[in-house]
Amino acid sequence: MLVSAKEMLTKAKEGHYAVGQFNINNLEWTKAILLTAEELKSPVILGVSEGAGKYMCGFKTVADMVKSMINELNITVPVALHLDHGTYEACYKCIDAGFSSIMFDGSHYAIEENVAKTKELVAVCEEKGLSLEAEVGSIGGEEDGVVGMGECADPDECKMIADLGVTMLAAGIGNIHGKYPANWAGLSFETLAAISEKVGKMPLVLHGGTGIPEDMIKKAIDLGVSKINVNTECQLAFAAATRAYVEAGKDLQGKGFDPRKLLAPGVEAIKATVKEKMELFGSVGKA
Ligand SMILES: [Zn+2]
Repeated sequence: MLVSAKEMLTKAKEGHYAVGQFNINNLEWTKAILLTAEELKSPVILGVSEGAGKYMCGFKTVADMVKSMINELNITVPVALHLDHGTYEACYKCIDAGFSSIMFDGSHYAIEENVAKTKELVAVCEEKGLSLEAEVGSIGGEEDGVVGMGECADPDECKMIADLGVTMLAAGIGNIHGKYPANWAGLSFETLAAISEKVGKMPLVLHGGTGIPEDMIKKAIDLGVSKINVNTECQLAFAAATRAYVEAGKDLQGKGFDPRKLLAPGVEAIKATVKEKMELFGSVGKA
């Protein structure tokens, strides 16, 4: 069922595990993630970036597809449909479209303006029963054309935004989007511990989950991370499986060109990636 992310993340924080946010790009992606969550009895968050929303013909199309799929596939685990790194304008579009959760990425505004806009969205989301994620400190890497370095957020700024009443908080702790460079310094657990101490029960969000070593993921969960975003890893798995299918010439055998056959190995690869992550994050059986 489609729900806000509030309850699942409160439970995750209390139970010392994390819920995965898996970004979707099309019907196959969505189906693969929903079926895996149901099979493993895990709560799940479907992430939609503005670029992906545009690609899928708008947020309304996405929300309608997800709702119909939840019905049609009898998905009983809690599912949140979440706008990833939303601009102020996109947040309102997703609220109207029927999303159950949004992220307002005000990290590029001065802190005063980030606070003012976040406050306004807190009130709207509260009224409509949506969860709201805020971001403090820019998270590095490239996301929809915006490139940043792996910065660390200021714990006092984190507390200021958390106190506005957001549901969950994304804070830069040296993490970046996309593949990590060979000379990456790793996550700053010092920063994470300081933020955790300041924000108390607020679930923290780790962006850029692709390629962070497993022991670092586990330590981050121990220190208060309750939501981990995975995007690139599913893309890499899908591409590799599709490449293998074509390179083996399987699209040239019989009806191997049928899109339902051609895309099947990629779908299975996404399922395997999602399963691996849910096991690592500890969300299996928590729905
Ligand atoms: Zn992100």
